Amino acid sequence: MYSFKEKIVVVTGAAQGLGAAMAKRFLEDGAAGVALLDMNSETLKATTTQLDPDGTRTLAMTCNVAESQSVEEAFKQVMDRFEKVDILINNAGITRDTLAHKMTVEQFDSVVQVSLNGAFYCVQQVINGMKEREWGRIISLSSLAARGNVGQSNYSAAKAGIIGLTKTLALELASKNITVNCIAPGLINTDIIKTVPDKQMEVFLKTIPMHRLGEPEEVANLAAYLASDEAAYISGQCIKIAGGLQ
Ligand code: NAD
Repeated sequence: MYSFKEKIVVVTGAAQGLGAAMAKRFLEDGAAGVALLDMNSETLKATTTQLDPDGTRTLAMTCNVAESQSVEEAFKQVMDRFEKVDILINNAGITRDTLAHKMTVEQFDSVVQVSLNGAFYCVQQVINGMKEREWGRIISLSSLAARGNVGQSNYSAAKAGIIGLTKTLALELASKNITVNCIAPGLINTDIIKTVPDKQMEVFLKTIPMHRLGEPEEVANLAAYLASDEAAYISGQCIKIAGGLQ
């Protein structure tokens, strides 16, 4: 457990999966406010109500991170309610897997737009405030697929882009006590991996040294650590959480 007392957290893609697990963890660790952003309004509402039934510490905002206008509007609401953002978790992401020669421009663009452009739009909303207060944490979800993965040229490019974005921001913001890191999960037990065919999953499980999927709570543990004061000297890193896969 860490203490995020007085901290305001924004988690994108928070309606389910890793985003919901991270939002839950920050609430459990005492965050003063957690804004949950997602484009799936229904699931978002249900998750937020489950995490914080009386809504005293949460704000659920329907937001499409792929659209800068939508991000701007969502952060305006976050500021109206909580007045600042201390911790940003860029988690929203999608997959549109197919081999590169079959991939449509729409499939390529949509994946990059959500994961990479979306992260940048959110970062732009928070950095001035973090710089003024001289404290901040920016954590983005990359992936083990950043090193290349058959059928994922769009996703690999987006997730490798997250690493470049992270390293650059870390350099630009270090003097203001703002750390910027990313998390690269292997296979974690959420809906996003449900498109992996069973046979392929069997192969994957054999190659993972721990022979199991990761759990969303395990990723949330890492996010909480990176956001804590205990990780104050860690910045510009991409940390793999993949059951022993390198
Ligand atoms: P998930 O599909 O369960 O959840 C993703 C959430 O993002 C959903 O609630 C969805 O509605 C939301 N979302 C999608 N597009 C959005 C948009 N344009 N604007 C706002 N919200 C949007 O996936 P997950 O497994 O929880 O993945 C979370 C992140 O972790 C993603 O960035 C993913 O690429 C990354 N990741 C996951 C795994 C894994 O094995 N689960 C592995 C590596 C990386």
